[in-house]
Amino acid sequence: MNRTAVARQSSQDKPNPFDSALEQLRIAAEHLKLEDGIHQILMHPKREVTVSLPVRLDTGETHVFTGYRVQYSDARGPSKGGIRYHPNVSLDEVKALAAWMTWKCSIADIPFGGAKGGVICNPKKMSQGELERMTRRYTAAIADFIGPYRDIPAPDVYTNAQVMAWIVDTYSTLKGYMVPEVVTGKPVSLGGSLGRDKATGRGAAFCTVEAAKVKKLSLKNATYAVEGFGNAGANYAEILQGYGSKLIAASDSKGGVTNRNGMDAMKLVAHKERTGSVVGFPGSQPVTDRELLQLDVDILCPAALENTITPDIAKGVRAKVITECANGPTTPEADKVIDSNGVFLVPDILANSGGVIVSYLEWVQNLDRVRWTEEEVNSKLEHKINGAFADVYQTSQKHGTSMRTAGLMVGVGRVADAIRTLGIFP
Ligand code: GLU
Repeated sequence: MNRTAVARQSSQDKPNPFDSALEQLRIAAEHLKLEDGIHQILMHPKREVTVSLPVRLDTGETHVFTGYRVQYSDARGPSKGGIRYHPNVSLDEVKALAAWMTWKCSIADIPFGGAKGGVICNPKKMSQGELERMTRRYTAAIADFIGPYRDIPAPDVYTNAQVMAWIVDTYSTLKGYMVPEVVTGKPVSLGGSLGRDKATGRGAAFCTVEAAKVKKLSLKNATYAVEGFGNAGANYAEILQGYGSKLIAASDSKGGVTNRNGMDAMKLVAHKERTGSVVGFPGSQPVTDRELLQLDVDILCPAALENTITPDIAKGVRAKVITECANGPTTPEADKVIDSNGVFLVPDILANSGGVIVSYLEWVQNLDRVRWTEEEVNSKLEHKINGAFADVYQTSQKHGTSMRTAGLMVGVGRVADAIRTLGIFP
């Protein structure tokens, strides 16, 4: 095989995320018979902002970080989406994630468009002081574009409630008054919602309950594996354990562990908190990511980054249900393999929408100056995400499509309706 062929093959195997997002949009447009003009509008982010962020490091040197904020659409409401800190952040990745946020908010039927932000950095190698200075500089750089009625950021990979607190403080300082509602996923002490920290995992667990009903799978003693034991994956693991399911394997960026007899999710979380990784969990054996994704389990939860289920991996997936906690974990080519093998896949834009649903509940509580209990929040989340699951499932039944295609049809279809009704200015 010559070098070009190898390069082409590997780029097909791990496609550019925005190419994947456009391919998914094309599939939805075809099924919806979307008019070309609307399809074209949906192929383009409404606004892309790139900012350079000079930050003083602890050594006294200066490093200029690159940050992005992409507002994909605001046709259904202010744009909404998290901020990611990761060395592999790129403009195309942020564009893809912003498009997926748009379809996600639409499926959940919450009044938001979609956005995403990212800064190219390695937060694991930065001190708290460096992270704080970078966050404040990033906030200042995008301050004119965000706001509670414009675009509302939230946490994503390697950002958390503390990062949101720095954004609130910086944004509010620039405005001259407190604006906690400029972000969601804040600490509870600053108006964050109870239940927000576990919401992505909880929503994905609710979707798994619904998927299990469809597949006539009993969750009691069902086995599952989680790729990416971060906020979403670890909370998913804990909540699914509450239904009597058994965690067989889990992984993070440092490695993976498996135990055929099951592992206690709570103890695994405590082990990771203590040691920084799931690796070395007592009683477990090491497992590679590839092995984990192809383990003989009932439920597979990819909860890490994009492009982990490639066509090659997909061929060996033995799970009956895939619940996508991550954004974009399955490539469009791998989707075809998964679908033809009869695996029931709950797509990311539905499965992981619990996070943004509770972000919406946080925003509503902030704007209304009210506070709901965790029980109230969890039950509103359950109601919303089960409604979204039903909409997507019914669409898949009616049109004979996979849940992926049905999810895109519902998500893209509602945004298209909004654009059509708004009309084109001028
Ligand atoms: N980053 C999360 C996501 O990808 C949450 C976004 C939000 O709450 O705005 O869905």
